[in-house]
Amino acid sequence: MTTRDDTKTTKTRLDALRVEIERRNPAQPEFHQAVHEVLDTLAPVLAARPEYAEPGLIERLCEPERQVIFRVPWQDDKGHVHVNRGFRVEFNSALGPYKGGLRFHPSVNLGIIKFLGFEQIFKNALTGLGIGGGKGGSDFDPHGRSDAEIMRFCQSFMTELYRHIGEHTDVPAGDIGVGGREIGYLFGQYRRITNRWEAGVLTGKGAGWGGSAIRPEATGYGSVLFAAAMLRERGEGLEGQTAVVSGSGNVAIYTVEKLLALGANPLTCSDSSGYVVDDKGIDVDLLKQVKEVERGRISDYAERRGASARFVPGGRVWDVPGDVALPSATQNELDENDAATLVRNGVKAVAEGANMPTTPEAVHLFQRAGVAFGPGKAANAGGVAVSALEMAQNHARTAWSPARVEEELAHIMGDIHTTCHETAERYGASGDYVTGANIAGFERVADAMLAQGVI
Ligand code: NDP
Repeated sequence: MTTRDDTKTTKTRLDALRVEIERRNPAQPEFHQAVHEVLDTLAPVLAARPEYAEPGLIERLCEPERQVIFRVPWQDDKGHVHVNRGFRVEFNSALGPYKGGLRFHPSVNLGIIKFLGFEQIFKNALTGLGIGGGKGGSDFDPHGRSDAEIMRFCQSFMTELYRHIGEHTDVPAGDIGVGGREIGYLFGQYRRITNRWEAGVLTGKGAGWGGSAIRPEATGYGSVLFAAAMLRERGEGLEGQTAVVSGSGNVAIYTVEKLLALGANPLTCSDSSGYVVDDKGIDVDLLKQVKEVERGRISDYAERRGASARFVPGGRVWDVPGDVALPSATQNELDENDAATLVRNGVKAVAEGANMPTTPEAVHLFQRAGVAFGPGKAANAGGVAVSALEMAQNHARTAWSPARVEEELAHIMGDIHTTCHETAERYGASGDYVTGANIAGFERVADAMLAQGVI
């Protein structure tokens, strides 16, 4: 039986730990934010299950098992040499090989990769599949680079990364700035250096050479399924609902596609220069043509679409009223003011397609207003789940049909929703998916860590 004193003591210990983590990891605000968000919800489970309060367990969980930082030199088309920085943070392998994407974006630094790697531990645990948590990337900016420059960069990046990864060790995938093209170049260089056809070393591969059906679609499809599950819990459906989506990359495109398939009406998309609102609903074929085929900007979509769509340069996509919001671009893109606007405009559910797109103040505002809020750890876990299914197919040297993968994805997302919902209820936080996701992910990883000893 847990007493109020137990919970208070645990809270004091967690507060001290937060201070210590900030001290030991200076100038990493995103990492601090991700750690705080988890620690803030763990007090009830630590008080109820004394084995989890064992000294050192949470401390080990917050310290990556390994962090690799390396130089990535490459030549542009004019022969100029550039030097970028590469990262791979192997955070936790208690449940399986490190698993998590690679991000190529100029904002990348160690703190951002650590926040993403930390999130990934719990997300991967929630899938119920055997994958640990990791993340990597580079401060390389792929915007405006030719295919040849992207290839040379990827080859240089892999020339160091290959020593640290492997199908039983660490299995990267895509993230911001890393899609099918980049995974192809990275895989080619890995195969060339190692002289091994080791398909399971990277996921997000092309369909003809070891990739899984539905992997490109999986994150976006999954976050829509999660939003639908949250609405169902409240006796509503997605059909006929309007949706505000941010981003126009991999996650956003397939979020739009699934919303349309389920009878909802996605009104918006965005990129770092502004947003598009389309009164007729986003035309997903045009969006794919502009973004995936032509690698253009979201403003090009508005120009081509005609009278129903307009581009708002530099605007906040969250000003557009919608029943459901799916932030699918980047971290901290939806703040307290945006949340207040969405609530005023009657939003019912928010599902995070991106990682940590909602600031902590905005999350609290949604929760106080009674909006169903699905955190990224749960809502965007479909991508990594299908990556794990890709690894399973690679291991068996087989390829499942799109229908089979999509069915598995739907099951996994349904299970994650149920797990988060039931866990929140078990710890007296009914309807709080943040607490449910953090505690359920934590329990699975912590049990494995305790069983495997102090390592
Ligand atoms: P993409 O590179 O395909 O697309 C990213 C989109 O977000 C682009 O529209 C980009 O616009 C926009 N964006 C990126 N950075 C910023 C910024 N600083 N400010 C405003 N807009 C920005 O990436 P993904 O779609 O793969 O990833 C989107 C999010 O989803 C990320 O948070 C990622 O971590 C998360 N995620 C991705 C998964 C996957 O399977 N791909 C799995 C789980 C989570 P612009 O072109 O102008 O930069």
